[in-house]
Amino acid sequence: MTGAAPHGGISRIALDVPLSRLFDYRVPVGTAAPAPGTRVRVPFGRQRLIGVVIEQAEASLLPEERLKPITAVLDTVPVLAAEVLELVRWASDYYHHPLGEVIATALPKAVRGGASAVALDELWRATPAGRALFDSGRLARAPAQRQVLELLLAQGPLRQHALDEFLAERLPRWRSAAMALRKQGCLLQESVAAAPPAAAPTTTAEVHPAPVPTPEQAHAVAAITAALGAFSTFVLHGLTGSGKTEVYLQVIKAVLARGRRALVLVPEIGLTPQLVQRFAQRLAVPLAVLRTAVSGEAQIIVGTRSAVFAPVPDLGVIIVDEEHDASLKQHEGGFHYSARDLALVRAQRAQVPVVLGSATPSLETLQNVVSGRYQRLSLPRRAGQAAPPRLALVDLRAHAVTSGLATPVVQAMERHLAADGQVLAFLNRRGYAPTLLCTACGWVAPCRECDARMTVHQRLGRLRCHHCGADSPLPQVCPQCGFAVRPVGQGTERVEERLRELFPQAPLVRVDRDAVRGRGDMDAAMDSINSGAARILVGTQMVTKGHDFQNMTLVVVLNADQGLFSTDFRAAERLAQTIVQVAGRAGRGSRAGEVLIQTAYPDHPLLQTLMCEGYDGFARAALAERAAAAWPPFSRLAVVRASALDAASALEFLTAARRLAGVPHAVKLLGPVPAAMARRAGRYHSQLLLESTDRLALHRLLGGWLARIAELPAARRVRWALDVDPIDLF
Ligand code: ADP
Ligand code: ZN
Ligand code: ZN
Repeated sequence: MTGAAPHGGISRIALDVPLSRLFDYRVPVGTAAPAPGTRVRVPFGRQRLIGVVIEQAEASLLPEERLKPITAVLDTVPVLAAEVLELVRWASDYYHHPLGEVIATALPKAVRGGASAVALDELWRATPAGRALFDSGRLARAPAQRQVLELLLAQGPLRQHALDEFLAERLPRWRSAAMALRKQGCLLQESVAAAPPAAAPTTTAEVHPAPVPTPEQAHAVAAITAALGAFSTFVLHGLTGSGKTEVYLQVIKAVLARGRRALVLVPEIGLTPQLVQRFAQRLAVPLAVLRTAVSGEAQIIVGTRSAVFAPVPDLGVIIVDEEHDASLKQHEGGFHYSARDLALVRAQRAQVPVVLGSATPSLETLQNVVSGRYQRLSLPRRAGQAAPPRLALVDLRAHAVTSGLATPVVQAMERHLAADGQVLAFLNRRGYAPTLLCTACGWVAPCRECDARMTVHQRLGRLRCHHCGADSPLPQVCPQCGFAVRPVGQGTERVEERLRELFPQAPLVRVDRDAVRGRGDMDAAMDSINSGAARILVGTQMVTKGHDFQNMTLVVVLNADQGLFSTDFRAAERLAQTIVQVAGRAGRGSRAGEVLIQTAYPDHPLLQTLMCEGYDGFARAALAERAAAAWPPFSRLAVVRASALDAASALEFLTAARRLAGVPHAVKLLGPVPAAMARRAGRYHSQLLLESTDRLALHRLLGGWLARIAELPAARRVRWALDVDPIDLF
């Protein structure tokens, strides 16, 4: 290029639009080019959008006159620090998702909307155009503007509070004059970080003394702290209550002592209060829980999956608690990512260790232990603890069963309650019954929007669909033939009813999404169990996470069969994890525990291996099966899911997409097929699966292909999204 560019250069900007490209904008004359990671406001068609500067460019492919200017620079300190910007770029490439949308996920909602990312102050300065206007004398008839400009020309840039002080007497409404000058380009208004608050306490003095670590804990802490300062991956394998959090605490303490910070990812925000309380009791340092806030001064940042994108200067360690948990993977919306996998990428770039904690590590993670890429640190059950719980299967076909409870189970409950123990009945299905059936004509209450049955909610007198939320009154008679209808099968509400009949003396609490709506409900339920006020706990998956019960001597898994025959290759893994996690609630105090698992398939190999060889044995067998079938982690998957309002469009789109892929090298295409539940919430869902043992070949294919399928005419009639490394196939 010849001659000086008449502008301050070009910024390449990511916008939250579903297009896989960056957008070029002109940096206004007299403005410094905004640093990568800075938010800017730009015109986009008829809208004005907030975008993030990705890089600076010398030239644009757009002709000069089409290049629009940035309207405002919103940050002086980039909202996306360099390492987070690198991570979102990596995620955008790996998950083949538009960078602007990835960034939208990475930023808290308020920040995305333009709210200040740090406590902000305004800084006002006069521009050269302002100097020229002042010197021209044309402001004689605008005395307010003249005074503001004069002050800024004399004093240099001023913060808002300084302007308030200087002008409070003479010109209390200086802002409107300043805004008018800004419009003419005579003043610049910038947002700057507020003066930092009084120095945050940085002492690592403990508020509560630490317990003496067990030898296994000491070994784990020593191994991880010895690895600080470089990338490595540890798997901290131990049941809930085995002392993992204690290890996290000691590691974090060592990290803080080196002037570094810790990022802790948890699967559910509901689990953070306990964790944060433990951290706060032991480490007197600023601690942030990420929901909508940004971390600021915090030295320990605790958050759910999107916290993997949180700004953490001087990162020293990343901890991923319950690494196997499905909620660490984002499944909603268009951008599907695994926070655990991104934590590894981030740790590798930051050269820090990452600790994956779990009682039931995922098979991917265990395979990485086998191959030597991750180091496993095991915590056996707590010292001083009674023997591990005894597990037994109860054959549902061999015993009388009433309301889902086999006779031996009822007898065991009696025994434990009589011995002052507490009992947990686990059933992963809320509501009263999953089906409402007409005993005369065979009608079952269907959901109008889904290929699913409505669940009976007896107490509310409603039918509800657990897939789309549809809700209708509970009919008293069959709408088809007028005969009586009857709830069939069990939900937690029905189990509660039955157990209250059987054990009227034993106070009972139920924990599921119907009974527990807020944090307060959960705390109250846990208190009544821990205080002993309640003797029986009936619950769904909600009770398997995080909570510590001291006197729970009997755990009953009411139905293990839901996961045994699923078409999803991960169903077995999930079932084993659930059983082990629930079983881990038993016998946690000084008393031995008993675990009874009801099944109609006691000979099923999965259950047999789990009973005889525990989770490790199960994992070995399951990994051998996965290897034989070339499922992950022995291959890589990606799935394109599409849905439409009519039955045909999604399949048509995916068929056309498959045709475009041709016969790719080293990648198998499977499908398209309708989803296992094809109709959900009024839309018809289909999927096309891509599988390869060669990750690069898969990603090479995805790269060009996605852009081309987006252009397909059939794409206009469907909603579709790509999911790389899907965790469920349904
Ligand atoms: P996890 O995170 O694996 O569920 P925790 O770290 O929460 O386990 O430990 C469970 C309980 O045991 C907590 O009450 C904790 O304070 C206690 N604990 C952990 N380690 C020790 C130890 N070495 N000595 C005594 N108590 C411990
Ligand atoms: Zn009928
Ligand atoms: Zn429905």
